[in-house]
Amino acid sequence: MIEFKNVVKDYGNGVLGADHLSVRINQGDFVYVVGPSGAGKSTFIKLMYHDLTATSGEIRVNNYNVAAITNKEIPFLRRELGIVFQDFKLLPRLTIFENIAYALQVIEKQPEEVEKRVNEVLKLVGLSDKAQNFPNEISGGEQQRVAIARAIANRPGILIADEPTGNLDPDTSEEIINILENINQDGTTIVMATHNSNMVNEHKHRVLEISAGKLTRDQEGGVYENE
Ligand code: ADP
Ligand code: ADP
Repeated sequence: MIEFKNVVKDYGNGVLGADHLSVRINQGDFVYVVGPSGAGKSTFIKLMYHDLTATSGEIRVNNYNVAAITNKEIPFLRRELGIVFQDFKLLPRLTIFENIAYALQVIEKQPEEVEKRVNEVLKLVGLSDKAQNFPNEISGGEQQRVAIARAIANRPGILIADEPTGNLDPDTSEEIINILENINQDGTTIVMATHNSNMVNEHKHRVLEISAGKLTRDQEGGVYENE
C-alpha cells in the first residue's frame, strides 16, 4: 500500500515538483504515472522510496511513515520496494548472475538461498542462458530484464519503474510490459512512470496523470495521448 496525503515537494527555486498530491495505491494495483516531461513523475516516484524528502504532507508505504523515516529505517523501507530505472544501472564488472546475487547478499541471505533465488528470477525473465555473461554482452532489453530480476529477487510487495522502456524499441518494450504484467499477476504492486502512450493504450491499467506537480487524472483503464 502506498498513500500520499497532501504531499508537497518544493525544490526551492519556485518549482513545486509535487503540489498537494493525494493518492492511494492498493496492494496488487498496476498503475501508470503519465504526464509531460517536467510534470513531476520522477519526483512522485523518488518520494516513495525516500530518494527525496517531502517538504510537507504524509507518505505511507506499507507500515512506514516515509516522510518522517529515520536513517536507520531507510534500508528496511527499501526492502519493501524493488526499483527499476530507464538506464538499467547494472554493475558492469559483475556477471548477470552476480548482479542479482549481490542484491541478496547485501541483505545477508544464505549462499544456497541466493543461488536458488537467482536461478528462479533468471528463469522468470527468460535469461537462464545468460547467467555467466556480462552486461555489455547482452542487449538493452535483456539488461532491463536483468534489472527487473534483480529488483524482484527479494520478493518486494511493490515494484517501481521509472521509464523502464525509455531506451527500448517497441518489440522489446512489449517483452518488458509482459514481464511486469506477469509479476503483477502474482500480487506485486507495479508503479510505472512512462511516456509510452502505445503501451498505456494497449495494456490498459490505472492511469495517474501528473501536470505541474498536481494529480490531474486518476482513471482505471485510462488512455494517454503523448504530447
Ligand atoms: P518528470 O519526471 O515528470 O520529467 P521531474 O519530477 O523530474 O519531472 O521534475 C518536476 C519538476 O521539478 C521539473 O520542473 C524539474 O525541472 C524540477 N526538478 C526536478 N528535480 C529538481 C531539483 N533537484 N532541483 C530543482 N528542480 C528540480
Ligand atoms: P529524471 O527525470 O530521470 O530524474 P532528469 O534528467 O529530469 O532525470 O534529472 C536528472 C537529475 O537532475 C535528477 O536527480 C533531478 O532531480 C535533477 N534535476 C532535474 N531538473 C532539475 C532542475 N531544474 N534543477 C536542478 N536539478 C534538477
